[in-house]
Amino acid sequence: MVSPSEEASCPICALHCDRDELKAHEVWRSDLWLLRHHPSPAPLPGWCLLDSLRHIGGPISFLPEEAQDWGVVVQRASQLVLAVTGCERVYVIAFGEGARHLHLHLIPRSADDPRTSAWKIADLYRDVEAGKATSASSVCVKDWLLRARALAPSLLS
Ligand SMILES: [Zn+2]
Repeated sequence: MVSPSEEASCPICALHCDRDELKAHEVWRSDLWLLRHHPSPAPLPGWCLLDSLRHIGGPISFLPEEAQDWGVVVQRASQLVLAVTGCERVYVIAFGEGARHLHLHLIPRSADDPRTSAWKIADLYRDVEAGKATSASSVCVKDWLLRARALAPSLLS
């Protein structure tokens, strides 16, 4: 069970109420899910998060309708990241540790960028977070978002 105090202090729930952040990074939403680009600093253009709108720690807490919809939405959101980014693969990772609210990382894997290979992606993430590696430029992220928002209705709705 989720206590009201846990939900009140959740950074993902807070982000879902932050109009400026959503205006800047939201790609698509349904009654159950919110797809958004990684906030700044983003490790890569196209690095997205697929959030449950409900405050839940992960798939173990899905309602039946969330469990039924999850596979389709993860597939289509991954297809969107691949199509817009032009990468070869899309990694999906969810720890739910930094914030105990389901936020699935959708990570573009490009063969020509060795920093994106398997667990090296975790090193890139930490280096960008610590300011030791360059983050994705805001111009690239804005361009990515324009193209993703244009494609999302046909792919995800
Ligand atoms: Zn939450």
